[in-house]
Amino acid sequence: MFKINENYLELQDSYLFSTIAKKLDEYKEKNPEKEIIKMGIGDVTRPIVPAIIDAMHKAVDEMKNESTFRGYGPEQGYEFLREKISKYDYKNRNIDISPDEIFVSDGSKCDVANILDILGNENKVAITDPVYPVYLDTNVMIGAAGKYNAKKGMYENIVYLPIKAENNFIPELPKEKVDIIYLCLPNNPTGTVLNKAELKKWVDYAKENKLLILFDSAYERYITEKEIPHSIYEIEGAKEVAIEFRSFSKTAGFTGIRCAYTVVPKELKAWTKENAEVELNKLWNRRMSTKFNGVSYITQRAAESVYSEEGRKQIEENIAYYMENARIIRDGLNKAGYVTYGGINAPYIWLKVPEGLTSWEFFDKLLNEKQIVGTPGVGFGPSGEGYFRLTAFGTRENTIKAMDRMNE
Ligand code: PLP
Repeated sequence: MFKINENYLELQDSYLFSTIAKKLDEYKEKNPEKEIIKMGIGDVTRPIVPAIIDAMHKAVDEMKNESTFRGYGPEQGYEFLREKISKYDYKNRNIDISPDEIFVSDGSKCDVANILDILGNENKVAITDPVYPVYLDTNVMIGAAGKYNAKKGMYENIVYLPIKAENNFIPELPKEKVDIIYLCLPNNPTGTVLNKAELKKWVDYAKENKLLILFDSAYERYITEKEIPHSIYEIEGAKEVAIEFRSFSKTAGFTGIRCAYTVVPKELKAWTKENAEVELNKLWNRRMSTKFNGVSYITQRAAESVYSEEGRKQIEENIAYYMENARIIRDGLNKAGYVTYGGINAPYIWLKVPEGLTSWEFFDKLLNEKQIVGTPGVGFGPSGEGYFRLTAFGTRENTIKAMDRMNE
């Protein structure tokens, strides 16, 4: 008789976005004539920019000649891409990250999940609450989260660090001992960021307590305020305590093309049970070489073109388009009397739902009365109750239409 990984049975059934999709289908069936505006799932809508399309076409053509055809590439990513990342995302910002500390992958979702392979399930994990749900669920899957407490909406072995209006969405350092902390900055879903002094507190704390920071900066390109750090490695000493995850998904519209990368600095050490030091870069390299066969050549040439002069200019225009949507949403909601957060350094607007409603009740109200779909805050963690997320990834036309409806 074969067995399953029973940790999967601890996962909570209804994943946020499937519940939303179900509710939406039911509504559409009853109201086929209504036009619905989707501001829920964080997927992009702008097409891939011409510089990237050109690079992909060129790479496709290389595949037809014997002399330029490519088969398996290096599992860590092609040197041409790792060098560009090192230069443009780090060295040009005075951060010393070398190509062999960069691992190219098919997405940050996979990377933040797969990193647990080399960390194991005996670490005490802290997450901010609310946050991107993948951090929690992947810890449940490996058995690090413990039992689910339905009353609290929390797993007993996870340390939840609430981020709410009351603390300005800045997490406090954990009161109990933890080994790993996930920081998502700019934050999905609240859209908030930490400045250098605030981030330094986390780096110093991690150094003092020998803990690891898993830093997800999928929305780094959306930062508009000058003083906000784009990388955790802008903080002195962070290379000893942090792994950074970055993705081309929201930066360059690669949600369908799939390309991301993870930085594992050579200085970063972990410990065995017997207190022996281990280099995480070596372990991750071993993991990637064994379980991954690299991102396609065509995709990596596409990612490389993100760093060309034309590519940079064109993706910046797309990001500016989304951030103008964010401004329209913030202004529209404020005019309609809502309190909003985020939307300045992130494509997400986090709003307080009206007194007396839960975030799912507000979801139903918005769908029924305005035909607008958003994401209930509680889906991102118990402290998200009473909040709601709208994304700026829609078309300009729909964004304006949605805000007109909110003010009708
Ligand atoms: N990290 C965060 C915080 C996200 O919001 C998302 C996608 O929504 C991802 C990672 C996933 O990125 P990718 O498309 O590279 O898997």
